[in-house]
Amino acid sequence: MTEQIWDCVIVGAGPAGLGAALYAARDRFKTVLLEKFAPGGQINTTDRIENYPGYANISGPDLTEKMLAQATAFGAELRSGAEVTALARRPDGLIEIACGKDKFTARVVVLAPGSSYRHLDVSGEEEFHNAGAGVSYCGTCDAPFFKGKTVIAVGGGNTSVEDTLHLCKFAAKVIMVHRRQEFRATKVLVEELMAKVNEPNSNLTLKLDSVLAEIKGAGKVEKAVIKNLKTQAQEEIGCDGVFIFIGMVPNTAFLKGFVELTDAGFIRCEPAYLRTKIPGVFAAGDCRTGAAMQLVTAVADGVNAAMWMKQYLRDPAWWNSKPE
Ligand SMILES: Cc1cc2nc3c(=O)[nH]c(=O)nc-3n(C[C@H](O)[C@H](O)[C@H](O)COP(=O)(O)OP(=O)(O)OC[C@H]3O[C@@H](n4cnc5c(N)ncnc54)[C@H](O)[C@@H]3O)c2cc1C
Repeated sequence: MTEQIWDCVIVGAGPAGLGAALYAARDRFKTVLLEKFAPGGQINTTDRIENYPGYANISGPDLTEKMLAQATAFGAELRSGAEVTALARRPDGLIEIACGKDKFTARVVVLAPGSSYRHLDVSGEEEFHNAGAGVSYCGTCDAPFFKGKTVIAVGGGNTSVEDTLHLCKFAAKVIMVHRRQEFRATKVLVEELMAKVNEPNSNLTLKLDSVLAEIKGAGKVEKAVIKNLKTQAQEEIGCDGVFIFIGMVPNTAFLKGFVELTDAGFIRCEPAYLRTKIPGVFAAGDCRTGAAMQLVTAVADGVNAAMWMKQYLRDPAWWNSKPE
């Protein structure tokens, strides 16, 4: 039996994968998306997106449906329930992709498996896990939905401080909970945070040496239980939302030993062309180093990878060229 060779195999049908699929298929490349669960990735779990250009407000599933229909109309194929478990580059330069009982062979691979928000695993977190119900992991995405409300922000790293400051632009009251006295965030961000706290009538207060112990409510978030780690005292604070900013976990365990990963598991790639160290293998979206962790930037990454793929297919030596 002759081996079926795909021009482009895309691992993950989230926004990055769907962006890559549209451009690759529209360029008449034989393209398949391999998706572990269902297309859409993280946006499938949100019913309100307000920062995707062209849509004032659209739900994640609606946007996914439109993006998928557009990519498949140009010939991209989708395999759902198809988890990629291993990849290898052959001496002839083709890439083999193991996916359950199936094996795919590709000239180019776009890795777009995304990342998942790290959870605290406290009581109430899963129950209200949805910005509409009150638990969110992305200040940039969801802060405007909490205009004039009281929210709790948990964390102490760079993203946490940045997103907390962003929340302060919308919420009436922000209570930042951090388990230590010192922040992990960079000095300049901490200075900005402290300047905000010290403003007259500031809407930001800090609860240091403290953790979020529980989220309570009926149908939506109504209270957060905060525990002081030094005194063990617990207090209940009335609030409308809880933002958990404790990092992202890239879905890249299956790539260990194939492409270079950072200690945290993000795919190392060259930022200009999204090339990994393996010729023919690009990284796109939230799975890569330097990702902005936004829908529109993930789509743009997928599109870039599909554009640069043409350079590689035309001239494989391009892979090792220096960015201009
Ligand atoms: C609740 C929520 C609300 C959000 N709201 C906004 C918003 O309003 N605006 C905004 O800009 N951003 C928002 N974001 C962030 C945005 O969704 C992400 O930045 C974006 O989805 C990243 O796209 P991606 O394609 O890189 O990864 P993902 O969306 O994570 O998609 C990756 C896909 O790859 C699949 N996959 C993983 N491993 C494998 C494997 N081994 N084999 C096959 N498939 C695999 C996954 O199942 C998934 O479908 C939100 C995120 C969440 C969780």
